[in-house]
Amino acid sequence: MRGQWVVVRNVRSPLEKFVAIDLVSRKEWGARAPRGSYSTLTSTKGVKVHYTGGRVEPAIVNDHTKCVAMVKSIQNYHMDGNGWLDIGYSMIACPHRKVFVGRGPGHLPAANGPGLNSGHYAVLGLVGNSGLVQPPDAMLHGILDAVDYLREHGGAGKEIKGHRDGYSTDCPGDALYAWVKKGAPRPGDRQPTPPGPPSTHPQWPGRALKYPPIMRGDDVRTWQAQMEKRGWTLDVDGAYGPQSRDVCVGFQQQENLKDDGVVDKATWNASFEAPIT
Ligand SMILES: [Zn+2]
Ligand SMILES: [Zn+2]
Repeated sequence: MRGQWVVVRNVRSPLEKFVAIDLVSRKEWGARAPRGSYSTLTSTKGVKVHYTGGRVEPAIVNDHTKCVAMVKSIQNYHMDGNGWLDIGYSMIACPHRKVFVGRGPGHLPAANGPGLNSGHYAVLGLVGNSGLVQPPDAMLHGILDAVDYLREHGGAGKEIKGHRDGYSTDCPGDALYAWVKKGAPRPGDRQPTPPGPPSTHPQWPGRALKYPPIMRGDDVRTWQAQMEKRGWTLDVDGAYGPQSRDVCVGFQQQENLKDDGVVDKATWNASFEAPIT
């Protein structure tokens, strides 16, 4: 199953549209067989994100075999300690952008808490409350690869939540939860640029103001009023004649625009946007 192709959403570059999820199959990680049959899930509201809740050796970042060992020990704990039929999670993301298949899509997880498992798949990020606490970018990508995979193959809905949403637990830890609350962005995605001061000036009316012959209208008056505000001397009478044209030429020369005396879109916008000198 390694290298299966799924559509990854919310990426901007068309070249990044298809990204392989790097699956670690149950066979590859040496999973024990489940102790019974899973309850079927055909869709969920989304996915809940989890952490281990214990210490994660920071050394796993440099050694994927340690990730495998950790997932196996979690499965043992869930099966032998909790008495569950399998590892509780649907999928597990490690610091190497690899995604372990836990119960997988279409199967009821056990990690969300009683009564909450049919609502969301459960994805574990291999971070804890000590040691490796901050999820590396590759792990965040892995979690989102898992989310995309569960949407594609298991009918997961669009929600991405934390275990603590609706259940009393500190899981998935402050770092992962802060990321979830931010909307679980893909690392490296450009943040939406903060809106600058909104351009509130009147829009170019869509016709070029020029002379001759004399043009009349509110758009002329609006432009004239703006030029007067800028310090030019002209009648604000709504009639674009020789005086308006001369002011326009003077302004265009000052702003290094084509000095043809025509208030086209560029000249209109400059009239409202150029700093007044
Ligand atoms: Zn949890
Ligand atoms: Zn790994």
